Amino acid sequence: MELKKKNYEYIIIGSGFGGAMAAYTLAQAGKEVLIIDRGKWVVRDDSCWDEVRLHVKNPMYRGETPLYVDQKRGQIEEMWTDDTVGGMSTLYGAVSFRLREQDFLGAPVPGAAVRDEHSAWPYKYEELAPYYDKAEKLLGIAGIAGADITEPPRKTDYLHAPEKKLSTPSAKIWQASEKLGLHPFYLPMAINFSGKYGKEKCISCSTCDHYLCKIEAKNDLSVMILSELKKKGATVIDNTRALRINVNGSKAESVDIIDQDSCQSVTVKGKKIIVAGGALHSPYLLLCSGLGGDDSLIGRYLYRHANGSVIGLFPYKTNPEKKLQKQAGIADYYYGAVFPSKEQPIGVWGMIQDVSSIGKEVVKQNTPAGLKSIAGFLTDYFINLQCMAEDIPQYNNRVFINNAKRDKFGMPGLMVYHRYLDRDLKARKALYKKARRIILKAGGLPVFSMAFNTYSHAMGTCKMGVDKNNSVVDPECKVWGMDNLYVMDASVMPSGGSVNPSLTIAALSLKASAQLV
Ligand SMILES: Cc1cc2nc3c(=O)[nH]c(=O)nc-3n(C[C@H](O)[C@H](O)[C@H](O)COP(=O)(O)OP(=O)(O)OC[C@H]3O[C@@H](n4cnc5c(N)ncnc54)[C@H](O)[C@@H]3O)c2cc1C
Ligand code: SF4
Repeated sequence: MELKKKNYEYIIIGSGFGGAMAAYTLAQAGKEVLIIDRGKWVVRDDSCWDEVRLHVKNPMYRGETPLYVDQKRGQIEEMWTDDTVGGMSTLYGAVSFRLREQDFLGAPVPGAAVRDEHSAWPYKYEELAPYYDKAEKLLGIAGIAGADITEPPRKTDYLHAPEKKLSTPSAKIWQASEKLGLHPFYLPMAINFSGKYGKEKCISCSTCDHYLCKIEAKNDLSVMILSELKKKGATVIDNTRALRINVNGSKAESVDIIDQDSCQSVTVKGKKIIVAGGALHSPYLLLCSGLGGDDSLIGRYLYRHANGSVIGLFPYKTNPEKKLQKQAGIADYYYGAVFPSKEQPIGVWGMIQDVSSIGKEVVKQNTPAGLKSIAGFLTDYFINLQCMAEDIPQYNNRVFINNAKRDKFGMPGLMVYHRYLDRDLKARKALYKKARRIILKAGGLPVFSMAFNTYSHAMGTCKMGVDKNNSVVDPECKVWGMDNLYVMDASVMPSGGSVNPSLTIAALSLKASAQLV
């Protein structure tokens, strides 16, 4: 553990979108910052594009302790996260959307074309817009303003243009969508398509989403923010976990941290402490620190999008050049159907996106014995469309701790309980139906649809709001009742619309940290 001292002005726990952007603002303002992450700095070598080394045999960045997820019928399944400096950004798909203006008014109400004010944001899109501008600039987002028909207003165009040449599968989807009268657009991406920032230009490979970028052309947080902060003097310690925040009355005084290899532990004092461990780990840390009580909302209102994909089988290899297959977005169904029916819910549905096929070896690993070879073989013949529907935040969906399960550091088990509402499943199903039409038009056969059961888009759990009885943090991300404790990450989002969340997390953290300064 490279800790120079035991007393810092600001301690930030977690270096994902929330933590890194808060650190950026504070460091720019000349503040002294300590950033702690339990993940390691990623290694930029051949392993970055090797799915077996990354995900199959002894996954390289797998965290030390599992999540215990309550699946249907009360079965507890262990799930693992990949921990890196930069949070999930290093492995993410780089799609970087703004929430739509209406999303700030709250999640849809089942059966009605209105929004639920309980999950409304405490501010409107216009207030976050300048921070979206800033986040896009810091992350070097490439896109085309005005092409997405649901895009909220913006003052300027994107700084960079996307890669205009579509890969073969993306071109198929694009053409089929246009034939159906839809409006495909280039997904806004945190990818360096033009060789800026003194880095190599993206080579448009097929191993991007769920992989690391060997040449640092994916503008993840370790590339764009954290390495620079380190050079400028911020202290970033990796492979170190915050176990507990020591609280005295309304003051958070210090953090107990532990080196995950040596198990050496230290207590570090901070004048202000920012928790940015993500929507599963931030509430977990607060609960482990004794915050929360019977009527506390810490951990409540967990949501994650109703995500899934439709898989189309084609009579030829769909991506023979092995190029990036995440280029086209289709927002025509974002606000749902003009004439809702029993099967087509009223109100918001969500977004359809081009998405890369899952790697052969990962597919084989998750396929029953006997079918592994055929499943692996068929991946070359697939084109997938991701369907992302809103997941309405519900009180009963939550993260909580179980003292009967202890990990190697003696910490309680992190338990996850989540069920979807019927409306959200119907919205996803309605999107599946539209995605099938596109695949058929492109000349493929939609063979199956697959729900994503991961928590990669976890949000909620430390809800932000104006009423302390209905939220965990105030609009400036300070924990209600505490003088110097903040949460800045996906957990504070009161509702999450139906677009990928990273840019919104970055923007809200830039806003809250600017207010803090
Ligand atoms: C494979 C994949 C693809 C994705 N693709 C996209 C995409 O294309 N577009 C998009 O918008 N979103 C995408 N996402 C989701 C996006 O990455 C997350 O929403 C976002 O990273 C969440 O940011 P965060 O700051 O809330 O948390 P995180 O990114 O999870 O960061 C939290 C950090 O805190 C650290 N931490 C947690 N607890 C502790 C502790 N106790 N002590 C020390 N450190 C701690 C973790 O190690 C982690 O580094 C994807 C996610 C995955 C997994
Ligand atoms: S597609 Fe571009 S950014 Fe993504 S991993 Fe490949 S080279 Fe890197």
